[in-house]
Amino acid sequence: MQFNLLEEAVKAKKQGLIRFLSFSFHDKPEKMLPIIDTGAFASVLCQYNLLDRANEPSIKYAAEKGVGVIAMGPVGGGRLAFAGSIFEDALGGRVTTPELALRFVLSNPNINLALSGMSTRQMVDDNVRVASRNELLSEQEMLRIDELQKQCRSLAEIYCTGCGYCMPCPFEVNIPACLEALIYQKVYRMEQHAQAKYSAIGGDSGKEGIASLCTSCGACEKKCPQKVQIRKHLKETTAIFE
Ligand code: SF4
Ligand code: SF4
Repeated sequence: MQFNLLEEAVKAKKQGLIRFLSFSFHDKPEKMLPIIDTGAFASVLCQYNLLDRANEPSIKYAAEKGVGVIAMGPVGGGRLAFAGSIFEDALGGRVTTPELALRFVLSNPNINLALSGMSTRQMVDDNVRVASRNELLSEQEMLRIDELQKQCRSLAEIYCTGCGYCMPCPFEVNIPACLEALIYQKVYRMEQHAQAKYSAIGGDSGKEGIASLCTSCGACEKKCPQKVQIRKHLKETTAIFE
């Protein structure tokens, strides 16, 4: 609060320069509550998806206080953007993983909006189709998802969204690409695809950007908004793929 930004923002709102104040949130879930309690904000943008439900109680609190909630990362930073995941199998293949991911987020009555990154026309069409149907997940489907999430708890800790804020690494590790391969392996159990992705990182020499270049200096972890334990996961990546 060094620059009294909130005070300034409230002032700007009173002057009609801003219609609504909103905040984006990357901290520990319980830290959202005092921000909501300031009463200054109309909405909050926070992580919420099938693989990361940590904010769920705070989201409920926000909704009870009349604060709108925008879910970011509804497809888990791209991890749920592909068909063939364990979630899809668990629901009998009735819906694709990306559709299930979006429906899961939109099924939460405390979520007003899902902010999904889309890089192709097809993704836009698919998301519009799912959101327009407004079909909620059944109680049974939610129970099955709960069960799976207990099994997958270890996956949520590799919460790399591929944002690249941790880069560049002074030792030239391609951190997002290494973690992406690890995610394919551990989340989707797509072993061949994961190995192919990992092999592609190394380039012609097979040595560029690979996880074993990491010296554990820790510089990257200070820059990661998701607080991913990069060093730990790179060791795991090395053990699996090299
Ligand atoms: S900053 Fe964190 S979330 Fe972003 S790419 Fe790096 S490890 Fe992943
Ligand atoms: S901990 Fe490893 S990956 Fe992170 S900046 Fe240092 S050398 Fe690079």
